[in-house]
Amino acid sequence: MKTASNSPSSYSGGITVKSPQEMDAMRRAGAVVGATLAVLRESVKPGIKTRELDAIANREIKKLGAKPAFKGYRGFPATICASVNDEIVHGIPGDRVLREGDLVKMDVGAVDDGFIGDAAITVGVGNISPESADLIEVTRLSLEEGIKAARGGARVGDIGDAVQKFAEARGYSVVREYVGHGIGRFLHEDPQVPNYGPGGRGALLRRGMTIAIEPMVNIGGWHTRLQDDQWTVVTADKSLSAHFEHTIAINDGEAEVLTVPR
Ligand code: MG
Repeated sequence: MKTASNSPSSYSGGITVKSPQEMDAMRRAGAVVGATLAVLRESVKPGIKTRELDAIANREIKKLGAKPAFKGYRGFPATICASVNDEIVHGIPGDRVLREGDLVKMDVGAVDDGFIGDAAITVGVGNISPESADLIEVTRLSLEEGIKAARGGARVGDIGDAVQKFAEARGYSVVREYVGHGIGRFLHEDPQVPNYGPGGRGALLRRGMTIAIEPMVNIGGWHTRLQDDQWTVVTADKSLSAHFEHTIAINDGEAEVLTVPR
């Protein structure tokens, strides 16, 4: 059945609020992203090139009847972002070979029926150090904390506050210079969703809004540097970084995670 993708979104405080039909399209796009990440997770092994992971994602997204959302976005040349070790986000897949002990962050976006899903995972390559495993787990859990804080009636600052408190209490820092975002027909919509507080500030969250929460957590400091390719963001002190992201829908109670396989 054709969805009402031609009907305009409504707005609250400048933020799009999706109709039930639009939310269904968000669910379909999210499911494509979730399923693609599940395949990528299983594909990571020592010896694979990030370019090969990109090809796998491209094939998977198309097989599921969707299109890559990142390819061509502001000139980004690939389907996924693949960022390794001290690379935080926006790494360009290429001939880099993953080695035992590396951390690879894979960020996937897909468009289905005009709406976009966006999510990321961090995966250890083969056996990883206990320090790396802890960083991954704390980052994943900090996303969970952010999602728990993202309810109708809360403010955007409550999300970052929850993420930051969780990660910093465990000795890590959260990246400030890159943030999560509203999402829908466009990859980046209002509001910006920082991974730091204070709570109680920022846009009011309302049922029907869809946002991408994406904590980037570092073992060292939070400062970043942009590589010469003008895409890859690395930690300024070369410390390890992890990244998890989900696209979620705001409800009156607990948020619905959209970027999961269905
Ligand atoms: Mg994102």
